[in-house]
Amino acid sequence: MSSRHTISYTCPACEQTFSLTQWVNISPNDAPELRKHVMTGDLFHHICPYCGKHMMIAYNCLYQDSSKRFAVSLHVNRSEAAVTPLLPGYQMRLERTLPSFVERIRILDAGLDDMVFELYRMVVLAQVKKQHPDRAVSSLRFDAVEGQDLFLQVSQSEQIRLPLSSYQNLADRVKRSGFHPKVSGYLHIHGKWVQQSGILDVLKK
Ligand SMILES: [Zn+2]
Repeated sequence: MSSRHTISYTCPACEQTFSLTQWVNISPNDAPELRKHVMTGDLFHHICPYCGKHMMIAYNCLYQDSSKRFAVSLHVNRSEAAVTPLLPGYQMRLERTLPSFVERIRILDAGLDDMVFELYRMVVLAQVKKQHPDRAVSSLRFDAVEGQDLFLQVSQSEQIRLPLSSYQNLADRVKRSGFHPKVSGYLHIHGKWVQQSGILDVLKK
């Protein structure tokens, strides 16, 4: 079930206080419009009623899709351990920043294997850097799968389109390699995870 609470928030620009709604539990199954607002990031977008400042405000929350069986926990305070209920039978992920939280949901919602995607992202990024040595492309974000195309975001205004089959080929290679990491609890997938998980060995085979 989705649930929310209202907090008092002090605008960092004008220091006036106003109230805003935070969704602590987000269940796209009982509230489809919430799903859309999370995927666009709009759920976290607020405008100060006093000075008009636009803000993206991140806070601890849990996105739980009971039909696609995945849960993504956003836990923004790095100094404390994430306290999130374990959900047996779910893919459970932990994120520390709002953009990563939104991206993780988009990846899993699109039905991709996010471990394979992490490897895919690395391979594509290496290709982009090789093809465009003059450009400082440092990261790629998942955007969407539409039909037989997969879209990655290079910057806010620029996308690249790749055939979905290029991802599927890599997914097949990972599957054939027997890569099957042991995961317990909420997994935080990041650059270090890619290095340590053993998934890179797939590329050597
Ligand atoms: Zn303000």
